[in-house]
Amino acid sequence: MTTTECLFCKIVAGEIPATKVHETETTLAFRDIGPKAAVHVLVIPKEHHVDIAALAVADPALAGDVLAAAAVVAEVEGLLDNGFRIIFNSGRYGGQEVFHVHAHVLGGEPLGPMIS
Ligand code: IMP
Repeated sequence: MTTTECLFCKIVAGEIPATKVHETETTLAFRDIGPKAAVHVLVIPKEHHVDIAALAVADPALAGDVLAAAAVVAEVEGLLDNGFRIIFNSGRYGGQEVFHVHAHVLGGEPLGPMIS
């Protein structure tokens, strides 16, 4: 997939609307369109990378930016006291549907042992 076809690149470019929660020079966080928990925010690098494995190899500092932004999202969404979950679905077996790396930040209610 090229970046011009990528859904999340279009959100970064402002071509598709999103409810933004947090933004830095290198990352963007916005609400998931189909929330799986009371709080469900996606954190992406603005630059296109397919998944967390590819990002971690290509630009570990940017992977760190994504994690730091996810922690800020947890704080501003009020998730720190009761806890939260960060998930990177990767590849077909991992259930990844959008091939622009994204961290799911989930919380706001008990999540159970695992999100499928
Ligand atoms: P994945 O299965 O880890 O790739 O997760 C993709 C996520 O993107 C799903 O939770 C979708 O609900 C979410 N999603 C798909 N399209 C949009 C959108 O346009 N805005 C916000 N979230 C989206």
